[in-house]
Amino acid sequence: MNDSIRINLEQVRGRIQAACARSGRDTADVTLIAVSKTKPLEDLRAAYDCGARDFGENKVQEITAKQPSMPADARFHMIGHLQRNKVKQVLPHVKMIHSVDSLRLAEQIQHDAEAAGLTIPVLLEVNVAREESKYGFFLEEVEPAVNQICRLSRIQIRGLMTIAPFVVDAEENREIFRKLYQLSVDIKTKNIDNVSMSVLSMGMTGDYEVAIEEGATMIRVGTGIFGSR
Ligand SMILES: *Cc1c(COP(=O)(O)O)cnc(C)c1O
Repeated sequence: MNDSIRINLEQVRGRIQAACARSGRDTADVTLIAVSKTKPLEDLRAAYDCGARDFGENKVQEITAKQPSMPADARFHMIGHLQRNKVKQVLPHVKMIHSVDSLRLAEQIQHDAEAAGLTIPVLLEVNVAREESKYGFFLEEVEPAVNQICRLSRIQIRGLMTIAPFVVDAEENREIFRKLYQLSVDIKTKNIDNVSMSVLSMGMTGDYEVAIEEGATMIRVGTGIFGSR
């Protein structure tokens, strides 16, 4: 059973390599996040045993339950919408929060991180396609948000994240990834204090190869590794 996780991981890594080769990128610059939401600890352990170290979860309860049970070098990424009243609980368990989607959430992170003596790396979530069902800043809102959030001493802005629309043909999302990449380049050139744009978290099971070709440095793959949920 865990064999399928090993085989899937090898296949995903092969595809990452091929996408990097096609686009002249170094595989070391693309971090695979194994999205383990809803999956039992044994599945995370199986992936860990095959070399996975970065895990993505979208629920605070799951992160707080799983992180302490995994080896200390397993890194957990919060990739789902985060409610402000749950920030305090999740902070000690996460390596990075990919889903900062409002100034109010950033202010809550600042408040709770300060109380806990932590500094938290974050990404701003961008709703590139302006889908009503999705969270995140619209493209034109990102730079103003960066200029506000960069003042929060307990937050390090590391880059941008997007959840592209669900499409049958991944090529349909290429433009979305391009727009996010271009935005990160535009913000980078402003050299804003306390802000780096080194991370672009984009691409999921259906479209991560296109995302890599367009500059993703973190891809979030769930079903492609762990099977359907
Ligand atoms: C579930 C989820 C993923 C992984 O989706 P798959 O299609 O299973 O690879 C990636 N990112 C976010 C934010 C998710 O919620």
